[in-house]
Amino acid sequence: MRVQFWGTRGSIAKPGPSTARYGGNTSCIEIRSRAGTLIILDCGTGAHPLGQRLVSAGASGRRGHLLISHTHWDHIQGLPFFAPLFVPGNEWDIYGPKGLGQSLREALAGQMQYTYFPITPEQFGATIRYHDLVEGGLEIDDVKISTHYLNHPALTLGYRLHGDGVAVVYSCDHEPHSRTLATGRGEIVGQDRRYAEFISGADLLIHDAQYIAEEYPAKIGWGHSTVEYAIRMGQHAQVKTIALTHHDPLRDDDFIDRMLESIRAKLEEGASPLKIFAASEGQVVEVESPISKDSDHHTTGFQAKTPIEPALVERSVLLGTVDANITAILSEAIRAEGIRVRFVSDGGAARKLIAQDRPSLVMLEHDLPRIDGLEICWAIRTELVADESKLPIVLVAAHEDPQAGLAAGVTDWLVKPFTTSYVRTKVRAWILRTACHWMKASIPEDEDRRLTSLRELRILDTDPEERFDRITRLAAAVFDVPIALVSLVDKDRQWFKSCYGIGAKETPREVSFCAHVVYNRETMLVSDALMDPRFADNPLVVSEPRIRFYAGCPLLLADGSCVGTLCLVDTRARSLSGTDVGLLQDLRDLAVQELYRMNILKPLSQRASP
Ligand SMILES: [Zn+2]
Ligand SMILES: [Zn+2]
Repeated sequence: MRVQFWGTRGSIAKPGPSTARYGGNTSCIEIRSRAGTLIILDCGTGAHPLGQRLVSAGASGRRGHLLISHTHWDHIQGLPFFAPLFVPGNEWDIYGPKGLGQSLREALAGQMQYTYFPITPEQFGATIRYHDLVEGGLEIDDVKISTHYLNHPALTLGYRLHGDGVAVVYSCDHEPHSRTLATGRGEIVGQDRRYAEFISGADLLIHDAQYIAEEYPAKIGWGHSTVEYAIRMGQHAQVKTIALTHHDPLRDDDFIDRMLESIRAKLEEGASPLKIFAASEGQVVEVESPISKDSDHHTTGFQAKTPIEPALVERSVLLGTVDANITAILSEAIRAEGIRVRFVSDGGAARKLIAQDRPSLVMLEHDLPRIDGLEICWAIRTELVADESKLPIVLVAAHEDPQAGLAAGVTDWLVKPFTTSYVRTKVRAWILRTACHWMKASIPEDEDRRLTSLRELRILDTDPEERFDRITRLAAAVFDVPIALVSLVDKDRQWFKSCYGIGAKETPREVSFCAHVVYNRETMLVSDALMDPRFADNPLVVSEPRIRFYAGCPLLLADGSCVGTLCLVDTRARSLSGTDVGLLQDLRDLAVQELYRMNILKPLSQRASP
């Protein structure tokens, strides 16, 4: 992967002789995979020269992807000046963290209101698609990306990019969760440990390094790292190289030189293999893989991204606090996000409200003389049912106690003191982290009759047969898809009489696409599952077989029962023409004929029992 830095300054652009070497433009980094995928990280003022270069280079800037970490000025100010967006025929995708209530598009358009700027986003000539991200994984052509909420007073995502056998992490505008870690010392626990997992083993970690440890006490809560923290986390997570960036506007080139010199001396002293440099404008880094390695390991196990608003639900937060001041700050912050607050005083009341209200978050004060948040948390956790197990429970306390927290099932800690704006950001992150769901298909009205008809076919759990396999093989070839299935939707599962292209014989009904066809009784096309709120977070979409495209035709029996589908699956987004749909329905008719033929021709003794 080729990485080029176009903007390395934090907070505000700072051109001039004192920043000539490391650069004055704000955050913007260009990444290109060997296959030519173009990804731009952040759109600070560095995007202006980059945009000029892309337009003069012609074809290479027509198609690209812009990943925005957050919408603070220094990360988006270059957007209205990014030339490729004004060229008709160009196609750009813009990704950024999803807010509650305001979309990425609206947030970006805010800085282009006529009071601030003469051109509106409607006047961009290029085709632009906006994608609101939450914590999870996504793929852009040959690059796999996972996202992670950073600790910053705005909803901010870090991006981990896997491609060409290497991992590059972009982690800008992030403050240590533990204040001790800002000095480069202390234990890595809780959310910092989660963060270490996110950056682990990166070949290149591009990291916020706005401050040094001795400046930090005056900058607590500003949302930035110290150089010492970046190095400590990098060493712990076995990162190969760190590029320090988001240089403070008050930092001149000589200061950065001296800082690097002293860091390198310390690393050498400790015989650390970690390499480190300070990113400078114009610098190009080729990140290459010394050995081929499994580049996927990090994206698995993550939840989904959803580029579309999930179904609107009224959100609520349960608050168990006694301190009047804390209660006031928290409820103000939560209400400012448009979220309802419910108050509880003990585990029993919390449990009752959880069952009744299905809140998105529980926040408990832990102040031993007055309230034992850990005990309440433990009491809640032991009674949660399976689908509530992801409910985040946050403890508000003067100090973190990670070991006890782990034992009691605490998700995270909110350490006093904190500001309302800090709480707002954290509340959003906690809630969005659990906001993804997919839609299960409804159960059809004729379910009993349908299941009886399906069982009467005596086909479930029989061996594969050529007459069905021939149909899925043909379907895969005709439509050029990797997977084609004859799928029968049973009470709790979908079972494949024929499965071309996958090994699985069945999947649970609740994740089944075909179950939607069975309910609607008509052909269903999903061009891009990631763009469809019914499927964006479905486990079959976010992990193997990574369904993007689905087309399913109902298998309708003579009595009107819909027992399953003949369906096509692809891992790329695509569509079908009207003629294609007709062809698929022809093949489906052949499959229905086979269902009957099998039942009539097969001697009873050989049929599987229902
Ligand atoms: Zn910034
Ligand atoms: Zn920021």
